[in-house]
Amino acid sequence: MLDTKLNRPDLPAEIARRRTFAIISHPDAGKTTLTEKFLLFGGAIQMAGQVRAKGEARRTRSDFMAMEKDRGISVSASAMSFDFHNFRFNLVDTPGHSDFSEDTYRTLTAVDAAVMVVDGAKGVESQTQKLFEVCRLRDLPILTFCNKMDRESRDTFDIIDEIQQNLAIDVTPASWPIGVGREFLGCYDILNDRLELMDRADRNRVAESVRIDGLDDPKLDELIPANLLEKLREEVEIARELLPPLDPQSVLEGHLTPIWFGSAINSFGVKELMEGIGTYGPEPQPQSADPRQISPEETKVSGFVFKVQANMDPKHRDRVAFVRMASGQFKRGMKLTHVRSKKPMTISNPVLFLAADRELADEAWAGDIIGIPNHGQLRIGDTLTEGEMLRVTGIPSFAPELLQTVRANDPLKSKHLEKALMQFAEEGAAKVFKPTIGSGFIVGVVGPLQFEVLASRIELEYGLPVRFESSQFTSARWVNGEKPAVDKFTEANKQHIAHDNDGDIVYLTRLQWDIDRIERDYPDVRLTAIKEMQ
Ligand code: GDP
Repeated sequence: MLDTKLNRPDLPAEIARRRTFAIISHPDAGKTTLTEKFLLFGGAIQMAGQVRAKGEARRTRSDFMAMEKDRGISVSASAMSFDFHNFRFNLVDTPGHSDFSEDTYRTLTAVDAAVMVVDGAKGVESQTQKLFEVCRLRDLPILTFCNKMDRESRDTFDIIDEIQQNLAIDVTPASWPIGVGREFLGCYDILNDRLELMDRADRNRVAESVRIDGLDDPKLDELIPANLLEKLREEVEIARELLPPLDPQSVLEGHLTPIWFGSAINSFGVKELMEGIGTYGPEPQPQSADPRQISPEETKVSGFVFKVQANMDPKHRDRVAFVRMASGQFKRGMKLTHVRSKKPMTISNPVLFLAADRELADEAWAGDIIGIPNHGQLRIGDTLTEGEMLRVTGIPSFAPELLQTVRANDPLKSKHLEKALMQFAEEGAAKVFKPTIGSGFIVGVVGPLQFEVLASRIELEYGLPVRFESSQFTSARWVNGEKPAVDKFTEANKQHIAHDNDGDIVYLTRLQWDIDRIERDYPDVRLTAIKEMQ
């Protein structure tokens, strides 16, 4: 075991060794393949291919697995824990669909860092850029992996330049590729003065590592053809002159990203990236909360819900709340306070997402993700503590960009429909607005595909055929202000007022002009497009 130094020896070692992160990338860049190799080197799976294929036999291993099968969505892939050297990695999956959604944003509130995967031939693509910007909002440290170097890829300087220009972040090379495409031999590990050569014969093997004494080491002449070696020496020299050196503090502050080059499918460069996550990635960070910040090393346990997955078993209507532990050492069976309702909750069957299998969590530390099965008490944004009334902040809800009316095909089933809609709203899959005048519900989403997904889930999970129709409204804003002002405003605008699924007041309109007018006419009322979950 490589004994890697922990950045914060002052923290309890169990916390200091944790690295909780997500992978951000454009579809097809290699996120799944890289995840698989992480698990392979983390000892969590024996063979690549298991993450995608998920043998049927594995699925029936427990009730939970059966639920996953019903739902067709892999719950265990939402969070995966595995060990590498002396680190514990918690990899949180970002939703794969290309509709940017709050889901993605909220997932990123549960991590301390992100690994950005770019395709060496394509560079920074649209989805990567969007996700990057979300990370930037929180100054998340970013480590970059440039994948598919075994294919024809772009010039190394071009790739680095594009990242610097498009994402406005400094880049420092942690490794440097030798040759491209068919000629790709491997990388020079700039940080450790090692030569990593790719093994094309065995895709699951870790590359051979040759310790060398700098780029002038005569050993290199034996291992690298003269033309490639000359190019390597030249390029690394230029890179060292032009690009910033690796300053760990700057990485932690999110100003500088180290980049590794590799080929996930050939397992190449993955081990170095993992070492990089351990060495340069942050340990669990303090969590902003009201009325005070939570530090991971506090002995009292706290955590917050960043994701809810409902209806994993249509027969039982249960859900799993994904909780990011913010502080302390959690133990199974603990009684925690559910701050929103001020009620105690005994957490008797928490699930830890060890990648190899889903296991009951006996303990979890700050930085870990646990799943808590429940019947709907736990909602996104909820905080759990050992009694203190703390509320984790910074988990927002965005005004939807698309609104439609929804009706049950059978008008007698509207109560049923309400129940189904509320459940999806709690899961964060949609916003549901109940207008004060008239019947029916208005559903708001961010991406147009989500209406279709919702319609089919309502039918599948509730046996309720529904239809979505265009609504007279196109925008929703939350109404804030002192009660008398808000009352006066809602009374005068009844036909525009609705309540969201939390009971908060919403103003619906189709005209930006209306919103501007209200700001003028009702100076004591504030209309906002973002609401903080509480
Ligand atoms: P995701 O959509 O980001 O999860 O991407 P996948 O991991 O599914 O990869 C997309 C495609 O690229 C698949 O066909 C992979 O086999 C392929 N791929 C992934 N990594 C590499 C690589 O290092 N080299 C090559 N040539 N192909 C790769």
